[in-house]
Amino acid sequence: MRFTDSTTGQLEDTLAGALSGDKQNMEVDLFATESEQEKLSQQDSDCGNEILDNTKVTATNLDWVEEQHDNVGPYKGDDVCDGDERKPVIEVKNLYKIYKVGTNKVRALNGVDFKVYEGEFCAIVGTSGSGKSTLLNMLAGLEKPTKGEILIDGQHIEKMNENQLVRFRRENVGFIFQSFNLIGTMDALENVALPLTFRGMPKMLRLKRAMKMLRLVGLKEHAKHRPNQMSGGQQQRVGMARALVVNPKIMFADEPTGNLDSHTSKDMMDLMRRIVNEQKKTLIMVTHDDSLAAIADKVIRIVDGKIVDMTE
Ligand code: ADP
Repeated sequence: MRFTDSTTGQLEDTLAGALSGDKQNMEVDLFATESEQEKLSQQDSDCGNEILDNTKVTATNLDWVEEQHDNVGPYKGDDVCDGDERKPVIEVKNLYKIYKVGTNKVRALNGVDFKVYEGEFCAIVGTSGSGKSTLLNMLAGLEKPTKGEILIDGQHIEKMNENQLVRFRRENVGFIFQSFNLIGTMDALENVALPLTFRGMPKMLRLKRAMKMLRLVGLKEHAKHRPNQMSGGQQQRVGMARALVVNPKIMFADEPTGNLDSHTSKDMMDLMRRIVNEQKKTLIMVTHDDSLAAIADKVIRIVDGKIVDMTE
């Protein structure tokens, strides 16, 4: 994996580097260059008007087909908690990440333990270099820990091989990036629909679901706008819709308001809070900004790779 200067907080560069070898697995939707994504999208654009026993998608059976599609495989995303018991979606046990730099050892994560429950908004807070991005990379299965366990929905992701991890990310995870990572030549609707391309969903369904997500983030009227025809706040809302469109179990947001002014940041935080509540999503947000963390259900404070405080 390519190392990205942690002080810039540019996780997306790290992700792009990590995934550049995964093209055969078609997981370049968010992380590849624009031209790579466009090429894939083009290849796909007319593919498959068939789904589930080759049922043709028509205007009259669109809803039914979508429902069936939702019921296939692990994308259902509407598990409920048993009784009042909270269900841990993420369990981190005794996690270490030690980098060797020359003869030095950098303890980026130095024995970390915590749980995040279904439907929780969790903020990981710390200054630059404290280990936030390293932790996010581990949780998203982008880097292997040196030692320790990471269970996502009961699955040990530290034991998965690269193909399993690619599949795990595609099925369970949505990312919101600091610099939005939208494709400049695509409009908002196409940007939001893009991750569904890699799930073999017919185009009509993709656009329908993408529109639903744009409505959810209050951007229905901007469906035909390209990124450069939208404000930073609107672009980040498109980024949020794109993360949500695959109905992920967990959403990761890396400094999601890092490129927004304070007023727009507040709006974005309120939107994330509302989406977590309404859609019952688990959201992990990394930030260096204490004031943003206040909106979260759980705040994990990290210093020199160790959790020094956890408030719920
Ligand atoms: P944060 O996201 O909080 O800014 P990071 O997780 O990026 O912090 O980094 C934590 C520590 O680990 C820092 O000291 C950083 O320099 C170091 N680090 C991160 N990635 C690498 C790497 N690939 N190689 C060597 N050191 C690294």
